Amino acid sequence: MIMKVLRMLISLFLLSLVIGQLPVIKVSASSMEGIPAKYTSEITYLVGKSVVKGYPDGHFHGTDEVTREQAATMVGRALGLNGQVRKSAFPDVNERSYASGYIQSAVEAGIIKGYPDGTYKPKSMMTRGEMAYLISHALDLEDTSDISYKDVNQKSPVYQSVNLLTTAGISEGTPGGYFLPGKTITRTEFSLFVARGLNSDFKVSQEEDLEVLSEKVVDADFLNVRQGPGTQYETVGRLMTGETVSVYKKEGDWRFIHSGNLKGYVHSYYLLDKPQGNWTIALDPGHGGRDPGASANGLVEKELVLDVSLKASEYMENTGVDVVMTRQTDWYPSLDGRVALATKNDADAFVSIHANAFASSATGVETFYYAAGLSNREYASVKLATFINNRLYKEMDMSNRGVKNVGYRVVKHNPLPAVLTEIGFLTNETDASKLKTDHYREAAARAIAMGVVDYYNWKE
Ligand SMILES: [Zn+2]
Repeated sequence: MIMKVLRMLISLFLLSLVIGQLPVIKVSASSMEGIPAKYTSEITYLVGKSVVKGYPDGHFHGTDEVTREQAATMVGRALGLNGQVRKSAFPDVNERSYASGYIQSAVEAGIIKGYPDGTYKPKSMMTRGEMAYLISHALDLEDTSDISYKDVNQKSPVYQSVNLLTTAGISEGTPGGYFLPGKTITRTEFSLFVARGLNSDFKVSQEEDLEVLSEKVVDADFLNVRQGPGTQYETVGRLMTGETVSVYKKEGDWRFIHSGNLKGYVHSYYLLDKPQGNWTIALDPGHGGRDPGASANGLVEKELVLDVSLKASEYMENTGVDVVMTRQTDWYPSLDGRVALATKNDADAFVSIHANAFASSATGVETFYYAAGLSNREYASVKLATFINNRLYKEMDMSNRGVKNVGYRVVKHNPLPAVLTEIGFLTNETDASKLKTDHYREAAARAIAMGVVDYYNWKE
């Protein structure tokens, strides 16, 4: 009996040497030695999930190679597969082996396969190519991209797996653009791949070595951000008008961008240059307080234009352009007071926002500037009016009445390039029905904000 127990203890000890864990002593990450400092968080994470366990000597042994049975065991633990020791599909896997249950569960799950001769070779060292197959199947990865390595061509049996793994941000290959599919894998490497597969916080991305090529502003109501450079790729997020993005890579008409935490591809058609200067635009919602402006079809001009101006201000600030509002509530600043407020706050251009009133048949958008001659201010005013008006009639689905030279006080007696835009006729039933909706108020706000971006890009 004693001999039997002793033999069992000895075999347990030998077993622990093989699988790198001591059954009776729990080794925590904090006490484990030899974890490469660079990857402490990944490996600590795996230790916390009991996917990786230390050796009896309390050391992680990161440079040790990983056998195929160890790999199956780690992935099996990571996925919570049934590890019950049992007979497997492979004649060379001992059914009493600690790994037999995980190997069999992984076969059943379609995650691993043996060799053509029907064996598994549990004690062979796992290669990076085999690891790619194992992990890409374990995680059921589906997305591929045009990433390629010098040593993995499209005919390689591991091409698909390596591509899946790289696209998912689990591997980035080795320096110089190689994947080294035939190289054996170390415990550190294997742990990294498993950690990245389980927790996207650890993922790598191909753009880490890339530099920002340019800063852009989104010019679309909703811009889909995709996993790859094409509409066939899944959408990973959306950007709105005026949001800024950093471009890292160009692929045909597509751009790989970051915007906050969002990363992916967008079509270049919807990107404008981001103005680089420290620009400040004055937005002037017309009328206010005792002066309601025009009223018709249930709309009051001072309320409508304040709403649109506040919306435009939000879009504007997304682009990085500062905004000075001449009023943000329902009160009446004098016309000269509005201009004074703009200049005092270092605005470099002035946009007054109004809605029109006339005979009920009059419809469409128009924008005014004032020019007596050809001064720089006047020329800039014409450009600003044109940029805004050209966007406005399209966004509003209204007719374009054009830009016009009229000496309204806020555009004439103003040291800044200045325009007064009319976003539609309250007195026209069709225009008014649009101006009642949030949809068209947003559209007007976008047109004004992006027209200002056009203007600053022209200035630069
Ligand atoms: Zn007005």
